[in-house]
Order: sequence, then structure tokens, then C-alpha cells
Amino acid sequence: MQRTLIKDTASKAGEDVMLKGWVEVRRDHGKLVFLDIRDRSGIVQAVVIPQTSPAAYEVAQAIRPEFVVEIAGKVNKRPEKNINKDIPTGTVEIEVKSLNILSRSETPPFDLTTDGLEIGEEVRLRYRYLDLRRKRMQENLRLRSDYMQALRQALIKKDFVEIETPLLTKTTMEGARDFIVPSRFQPGKFYALPQSPQQYKQLLMVAGFERYFQFPHCLRDEDLRADRGFEHTQLDLEMSFVTREEVMQAVEEVVKEGVKAVGGKLKDETFPVVSYRAAMDKYGADKFDLRTEAEKKNGVLAFAWVTDFPFFRPVNKEEISDKFDSKSEWTFTHNPFSMPIPEHVERLLAGKNIGEILTTQYDLVCNGLEAGGGSIRAHTPELLKATYKIMGYSDSQIEESVGHMLEAFSFGAPPHGGIALGIDRHIALLKGELSIKETMAFPMTSSGRTSVMDAPASVPENILKELGIKVISDDKVSS
Ligand code: ASP
Repeated sequence: MQRTLIKDTASKAGEDVMLKGWVEVRRDHGKLVFLDIRDRSGIVQAVVIPQTSPAAYEVAQAIRPEFVVEIAGKVNKRPEKNINKDIPTGTVEIEVKSLNILSRSETPPFDLTTDGLEIGEEVRLRYRYLDLRRKRMQENLRLRSDYMQALRQALIKKDFVEIETPLLTKTTMEGARDFIVPSRFQPGKFYALPQSPQQYKQLLMVAGFERYFQFPHCLRDEDLRADRGFEHTQLDLEMSFVTREEVMQAVEEVVKEGVKAVGGKLKDETFPVVSYRAAMDKYGADKFDLRTEAEKKNGVLAFAWVTDFPFFRPVNKEEISDKFDSKSEWTFTHNPFSMPIPEHVERLLAGKNIGEILTTQYDLVCNGLEAGGGSIRAHTPELLKATYKIMGYSDSQIEESVGHMLEAFSFGAPPHGGIALGIDRHIALLKGELSIKETMAFPMTSSGRTSVMDAPASVPENILKELGIKVISDDKVSS
């Protein structure tokens, strides 16, 4: 017999079916055993009656929560008074004729029938494969898949091309520290994992693709907070021959299509545009929440754009990544590859009134949080060089850092601009989750340990030797 999905049992009253799934709950009523069976599509109640199915009843005695079973049985309509309105299959019940255990389970370390928020993060992430069985996490990851699919379709309709870029690469500054990977073939040399595909996507514009996107993982070695990990997923895109307003318009359309496709509610059909100055004056921050109290309760998404940010800010001497990025008193606020607003191009080229130069940066905010950010880019060698000069780079340091970009821009670079949206954050907003970890399959713990697997971990000495690496504190090296 072919397997039936649990959600389909509701329309199969009177038919024989075969179900496969997990036992969520087993209730022994002495004369009867009830099993709530769960598969990817839903949950249904099954009943084992000793008189009619003695063999199945025998097996049912051994069953514990999270056992994997195969059930053959008949779908019976429930009498009116027994209908369970809480589940879509609540009008039926499966009368078990045969019951097979496909796999046994230890007692799970925590309850899988709650939303899980009452359980400590370390234990949830250690057993993430169990934690993900809970309804809320199943919903979150399925919503994530649906949303990404809708965004992808909206972009394809707009003639974007999905292109992957490398993970082993050279540093690209996004204001965090890099994760570095040692090279075995060139001991003492290192790759950097990308903080974003910023440079590669710009090179794809030079390459003539005109409209690019991907959903890259971005790796940033930042100080951990409860709602932060080292990795996040972006919707990264770039467009050629566009103004700032055209990028914002295209992104707005794509986001609206994605949000609507998954049933999200928008406050505004046209996202308000607020200048950085006005936002600071009015809200005291460049991220603000435009929802009314009622809209907050109803899960409404209030998107807005923030524009006209300062291009540069004074270096924070305490911040190691600032000291790494900049060699002068000034560092970039958002992105060193940005173009200033047209009125301030001369200032950038002359390196004058640095604190007053405004960038073409646009940030997308939603419900008080940052939901994305991008800019029109400096597409001529002179403009990019001028930014690095302001950050104190000598000609040879500029060459060393972005010489490849300057070279690429010398071969006919189209004017271009783009954006990156934080996908984890969008899902959290759509679902009303407070932490982006609730939207990721295998996030890191707040102490930087990986889900399920024990990393970071020591590496055997012979491997380090091959890489030409010596760890200074020996107690951290296993042999
Ligand atoms: N590369 C930027 C980031 O990752 C986004 C962009 O400017 O496109 O934040």
C-alpha cells in the first residue's frame, strides 16, 4: 500500500491508509491506546483496539514518544462530540490494524510539544535535530523556504541572474573581523571567508550581467550577542545603469511580493523615505518603528527607507576592526565602495569637509530593526581611490587592498548599485520572533559553539604542521 500523508486523511473517511511518521504522544487508556502520529504534513490521532487488533495492541505497549512507526488502518469519521477543532485532521481518527516500529527513540531531553522558548539555548542547540521537530520550528523553516522562493521568483521575473561567488577569498571590509583559512599550498598565507560578496558582485557588473542576485552566507567575526551569530544569510543583489531611487524601487517591489506571498501584512504599500538627519532628530536613531500599538499586536510590517547618511565617521580607537580598516582618523560608516551623493563627489575627490560628505547609502528598516542596506557604488578608479585616500591609505596600500577593483574599473565599469537584505531578520519579523536564531536551522550558541557538533575544536598537530601553523598555548592543541 502507498503511504498517505497525514493531512490527506481528513478527506479519506472510510478508506484504508498507510501512515508513516513519529509518535508525538501515546495515551494508554487501559482498554485502548491512543497514538498521535506526526509527519511533515500534520498530526492525526490513531487508536489501537485490543479486541480487533491484538498484535498491534501488543506493539503499542512498547511505543514511546518519538518512535518512528508505520501504521496501516482505516480512517473513521469521528462522532460530532469527539471532533478536535484544534487540528485540521480533527474530524477523523485512524483505527489501527497493523503497527510497525521503524525506529526507536530514547526519551528526548526536552519537551517537543511546546514552543521551546522555555528551554535553555545550549541544550536546544545541542539537540537541534530534535528541537526542529517542534511545530514552531517546522513552521519557521518552511516559511523561510517559501519566502526565499518568492523573492527568487520576483527577481527572476525582473531579469536577475542567480550567480554564486567564492567562499575562499580575500578580505572585503564590512566593518567586522575576518575569519581566516590557512593555505596548505602556501604555508603562512591565508584566505578570508567573505563578510559579504561585495567585490565579486561588483565584478559581475563589470562582467556585463547587469542584474545579479544570490542568497550568500556572510561570515563576520563580531562580538557575540544573544541575537547574533558569526554567520548570516543575505539576499544580495546588484544592478547596473540605475539610480539610487531605481534600486530602492526594485527592492521594494521584490520585498512586497515576497511578504505578500507568505501572507505578511504591510503597513505601507509605498515605503516612506526618511533622511538620516530627520530620523535622528525625530526618533533619536536611524532605525525606528512606525507601527501603532494596534499594528504591533497584528503583526504588521512597517518598512521604511533611510537615506543620506554621512559617508565617514571618526575612527573608534578601541575597535580592532576600525584600526584594521582605516589608517587615518576617518573610516567609512557603511561601505567603502559607495559613491557619495552627486553634490558631494567633488568633496570626496578633494578630501575636503570629510565629516559632511553624504553617501548614496540607503538602509531598509522595519519595525525598529535594520532589514537591509546598500548603495550606489564608486565605479571609477578615481572615486574609489579617493575614499581610500581619506582613510589614510598610501598608493601602495590602495594597490594592495583594492588594486584588482581599480584594474577592473579601468575596463569599462557600468554605473551600478545594489543592496543586501538580512534574510534571517526578515523571517524573524514575518513570524514575530525575537531572535534570528529561531529562523535558522543550525545557528550558533551565544558562546560561539556550533549546533550539534563541537566546534571550534582542536586540530591534530600533524595537520597544523602541514599548514605551517604553531599554536602558542599548547594546551589547546590535541595530538
Ligand atoms: N555589502 C553590503 C553588506 O553586506 C550590502 C551592500 O552594500 O550591497 O552589508
